[in-house]
Amino acid sequence: MFRAKNRAKDRAQEPPAEIQKPDEQWKRDLTREQYNVLRRGHTEMAFTGALLRNKKTGSYVCAGCGSELFRSDAKFNSGTGWPSFFEPAVAQAVELRSDYSMLMRRTEVICRRCGGHLGHVFRDGPRPTGQRYCINSAALAFEPTADPDQES
Ligand code: FE
Repeated sequence: MFRAKNRAKDRAQEPPAEIQKPDEQWKRDLTREQYNVLRRGHTEMAFTGALLRNKKTGSYVCAGCGSELFRSDAKFNSGTGWPSFFEPAVAQAVELRSDYSMLMRRTEVICRRCGGHLGHVFRDGPRPTGQRYCINSAALAFEPTADPDQES
């Protein structure tokens, strides 16, 4: 079911990303690392990401467009070296595509709003979903939830 939905011939019928910019503009708007991950599909080195060990309560938004992608309550320590989540903030925030690069069959995770590459999703995650969204820290920005106790 999942595979059929993501065949290349169907991809052409999907609506284009809401946010589209010329490549030169992305290069100006993003850091080199963000650009390499989001726009070129690179993977950051394991255990190097700034948000890997972040345990604060809040939202993980796309570093490219600000769309909310994941929430802290779905983050878990996978031991893989990349921020890991068992579900997206809302299903429609991400787009899944079959990825046959690197001689592996994987499922790529993309920001639906800007088309940026986020990482991959695997089926060895924890309950309740069994999914492991393995996401590059460089593709994310963290927005902490305001703590009402700390407001003056
Ligand atoms: Fe985005």
